[in-house]
Amino acid sequence: MNCPKCDAVMEAVEYNSVEVDRCTNCQGIWFDMLEAEQLKDIKGAESIDIGDQKVGKEYNKIDKVNCPKCKTLMSKMVDNDQPHIWYEACGVCYGVFFDAGEFRDYKEENIFDFFKKIIKKPRQ
Ligand SMILES: [Zn+2]
Ligand SMILES: [Zn+2]
Repeated sequence: MNCPKCDAVMEAVEYNSVEVDRCTNCQGIWFDMLEAEQLKDIKGAESIDIGDQKVGKEYNKIDKVNCPKCKTLMSKMVDNDQPHIWYEACGVCYGVFFDAGEFRDYKEENIFDFFKKIIKKPRQ
């Protein structure tokens, strides 16, 4: 399988018997249906995301990508809890693609995100 963003070869990476594909160039990560959700709950799974967040930010700008599995044009998604995380999802096979550093970010909903959520709530 090739990377949907930079077309480099992707390698299989396994964590806790969940296998994902990581790009050998831009280090974006492809998750099959629900794998990202599964790994979000597994402690230490962010270690599969070895990429540089700065590189990820650059690749984040490429947002018209086709699913590496079924070639469908993927939808641009935004994480509800962490709106700065943009990722791409396939509406046909339900795979998702995170740029380098995004999965780490997704997994560690930090105190900053927590406050942003509070601030967004209107006053009673
Ligand atoms: Zn890539
Ligand atoms: Zn697909």
